Amino acid sequence: MKQLNYRPGRIFLSVPHMGGHERNYVQKALEDNWVTTAGPNIPGFEHDVCQHTNAQHAVALSSGTAALHLALRVLGVQPGDEVICSTFTFVASANPILYVGATPVFVDSEPETWNMSPELLEQAISAGIARGKKPTCIMLVHLYGMPAKMKEIMEVADRYEIPVLEDAAEALGSRYSGHQVGTFGKIGVFSFNGNKIVTTSGGGALVTADARLAEEAAFLANQAKEQAPFYLHSQMGYNYLLSNVSAGIGRGQLEVLEKRVKQRREIYTYYKDQLRDIEGLYFAPEPKGCFSNRWLTTVLLPEGFKPEQVRQELENDNIETRPLWKPMHQQPLFAEHTFFGNGTSDQLFERGLCLPSSSSMTEEEQEKVIRALKQALAD
Ligand SMILES: *Cc1c(COP(=O)(O)O)cnc(C)c1O
Repeated sequence: MKQLNYRPGRIFLSVPHMGGHERNYVQKALEDNWVTTAGPNIPGFEHDVCQHTNAQHAVALSSGTAALHLALRVLGVQPGDEVICSTFTFVASANPILYVGATPVFVDSEPETWNMSPELLEQAISAGIARGKKPTCIMLVHLYGMPAKMKEIMEVADRYEIPVLEDAAEALGSRYSGHQVGTFGKIGVFSFNGNKIVTTSGGGALVTADARLAEEAAFLANQAKEQAPFYLHSQMGYNYLLSNVSAGIGRGQLEVLEKRVKQRREIYTYYKDQLRDIEGLYFAPEPKGCFSNRWLTTVLLPEGFKPEQVRQELENDNIETRPLWKPMHQQPLFAEHTFFGNGTSDQLFERGLCLPSSSSMTEEEQEKVIRALKQALAD
């Protein structure tokens, strides 16, 4: 059996943080025996997701990855199609493109938001068209909670009439021009995995303004089981439903979403303020129009420091840190795939580190991280 091997007192990157009311929803589910994939917490959770994001329709699902997979299915991505994808992301963005038999084409970041470069996006689309292979979908990511440049990206996508799928797994509570990210494209996806800003213990949701797409996704998530007195199937489906118990946790968590965003943003500000004297240590600011949930506070280290060396030094103090995501075009899994680059994500990976950012962190814990980081960067 896998051991939970950590020393007591460890400061983690991002842990679940209950609001208190989760237990009421869960207890009710247990009392009423709604303990599987049917029950009132599911439509309740979907309703709450819409309330918090201003989305028209939400479908609760078993994970963010499942939501991305279904999004590609209902957008009609076919085997052999090409799908544009941010290179600077977690592999869960790119894997669903493989699930549907399509080919990812990776696009680099721009240095302000660290998300998809609108210029390189346009280059990738033009090059695809020139090869006789117009991309069928653009999947972009709002990484670490920072909104991508949606105005520019939607302008390119609309001009070429390519649907946009927003991977907002890390960005619940983040806004661009005052609107929740995930609501700009045809479909947006959120994750409620345990490390995200709020959790259902494990889960995801897909949001869209298109009722037909939401209905189709909900249908595929339930084994594509058709309306009939017997089991009738004419399409390939999946078992991607969320449980009513998990949805209950999610309902309690969404009650405190705004509070969690505020707490994570305060953590970012505190680090930035307390570490301002370290020359060359860079905290990405919010570009104009962007409001980040600051899911994780990320820094770029001063010249001469390697993330791995700093990570190990903090590990000695029982503090968990992590390098920034290793870009997809650098992954052996995607070694053969087309990539439109400008060096941004390579540099971010070379220099960047994620700091402990749990909303439940105490002031003493933050102080400990600050001291350890000062020491590691003083050498
Ligand atoms: C967490 C995450 C996902 C996947 O969400 P799960 O709920 O863990 O399946 C997808 N994309 C990004 C960028 C993520 O961080």
